[in-house]
Amino acid sequence: MYNDSSDKYTTRFPALDGLDIEHYRPFTHDGLIEEIKQLAAPLEGKELSHVNSTFEGGGVAEMLRSVVPFLRGLGLKSTWYCIEGGEDFFILTKKFHNMIQGVVQEYTAEDLLHVYIENIKNNLDGNPIVSDMTVVHDPQPAASIIHGEFLGKTLWRCHIDTSEADPLIWNFLLPYINHYDGSIFTQKSFVKPGLKIPAYEISPCIDPLNVKNSQYSYETALRVVDPLIKKYGIDIERPMILGVSRYDVHKNQTSIIRAFKELKKKRDIGKLKPMLVLVGNSASDDPEGQLMYEKTLQEIDGDPDIYALLNIPNNDLNIGALMRLANHFVHVSTKEGFGLVVTEAMWQGCPVIGSKVGGIVQQVIDRQTGFLVEPMSVKEITNYMHYFLLNPQERDQMSVNAVEHIRHNFLIPNLIKKYLLLMRFLLNVDKKTPYFRIQ
Ligand code: UDP
Repeated sequence: MYNDSSDKYTTRFPALDGLDIEHYRPFTHDGLIEEIKQLAAPLEGKELSHVNSTFEGGGVAEMLRSVVPFLRGLGLKSTWYCIEGGEDFFILTKKFHNMIQGVVQEYTAEDLLHVYIENIKNNLDGNPIVSDMTVVHDPQPAASIIHGEFLGKTLWRCHIDTSEADPLIWNFLLPYINHYDGSIFTQKSFVKPGLKIPAYEISPCIDPLNVKNSQYSYETALRVVDPLIKKYGIDIERPMILGVSRYDVHKNQTSIIRAFKELKKKRDIGKLKPMLVLVGNSASDDPEGQLMYEKTLQEIDGDPDIYALLNIPNNDLNIGALMRLANHFVHVSTKEGFGLVVTEAMWQGCPVIGSKVGGIVQQVIDRQTGFLVEPMSVKEITNYMHYFLLNPQERDQMSVNAVEHIRHNFLIPNLIKKYLLLMRFLLNVDKKTPYFRIQ
C-alpha cells in the first residue's frame, strides 16, 4: 500500500497541497463556505483519511483529488492511501463490480481466498492506518477492515448501484462491511437487507475548479471546440444533441441513436437540421470498450447526421465546451451508480433527457431540469428531443434550473459538508444524528 506522499504518487501526480477554500465561494450558494468553516473549526488537526485502489482513472480518484486538498485547506489532516494489487486482483475486483451491478461472472473460492484476501493482507499487514476517521471506498479494499488494522472510526463508502447485486458476492462482502462503524451509499434504494450498521446518503459531486467544469461563455466554448469540429467536419451551427459516456452496454447508446433516427422522420424538424454527437472513451483496462464502439457504429449505419467520437483530443476542455454548446444532453443508461456526466452537463447549463435509473433521478427533476424516461423507450426519448428543439424558452429555463440544482447539491463543498457532519458525529463533537442518515 502506498499513500499520496510515497514516490509512487509524487513522481506522477502534483502534490495535494491544502487549498484556499475561498476559491469555491463564487460557485456555492450563500452561507455554505461559512458553514463549512464553522463545522471544521473543532476538527482542526484531526485526520480524515481515504483508502481506495487507484490514484488515477474513474470518479473516485477524481473526487479524492479535490477532497483531500479541500480538507487540508480547512486545517484537517488527510492522507490518501491506495492499495496495490496484481492483474489477477484487479480482474477479480472488476468482476465484483460487475456482479454487484447484477452481471453474472465466473469466479472460484480460490479467487476469493487467495487472490482477494491474500492481496488485502499483503497490503495492510503490519501497516495500521492511524486516522480519526477513515473512508474506505468500494469493494476492492473492503476486507481490509478485518485483514488490516484501523485506529480510529471507519466508514465503507459504496459508489456502485447495489440494488440488484448478485447475492453470493454480496453475502461474501457483507460480514466485512458490517464491521465498519458506518456505511455511505449514493441513495437509499442501494441499501440492501443484511446491512447491520448505520447507513448515510452522500452523493458524488463535481469540482467547479476542474478544467472540465469551467463554465465557459458561449463564445469561449466555440473557440475551444474549433479544432475538434474541424477535425471531424462537424457544423457547430446546427442544433446539437449530445451524449457522453464510455462505450458500454449499460450506457445504452443504441436507444439514443434509434430515438434520433425517429426524430429525423418528424416533418417539422427537417429544417432545423439537428445532429447527434456521441463522445466516448474506452479505458485501457476495459476490453469491451472497442467492441461496443464498433457495435455503436453498426447501429449508426452511416447516418451522416450522427457523429460517434472515440477518445477525443484535449478531452476535459472539449467535453465541458461541447456540453456548454449542446441544445440538450441524453443519458439513458440501463444501470447507473450516479452518472457524473449528467452532473457535468447540467453544470454547463445543458438540460438532460435521463433514464429513471440509479442516481440520475436525483439530478434530473422531471420537467424542471430535464425529462425522465424509461431507458428502452425510444418513443419517449424521441418526443423529448423534439420538445427541446421546438421549445427554446422552456429549454432555456430548464438550463438555468439545472445549473442551480447542481450548485445546491452536487459540488464538492456539499460533499465536504456531509463528511464534516459525519466526522463530528462519530467523534462525539455533535450528539445529533446527521440528517442524511438513511438507516
Ligand atoms: N468521460 C470523459 N471522456 C469521455 C467519456 C467520459 O472524460 O469520452 C468522463 C465523464 O466526463 C465523467 C466520467 O468519464 O467524468 C464518467 O463518469 P460517470 O459517472 O458518468 O460514468 P462511469 O464511467 O463512472 O460509469
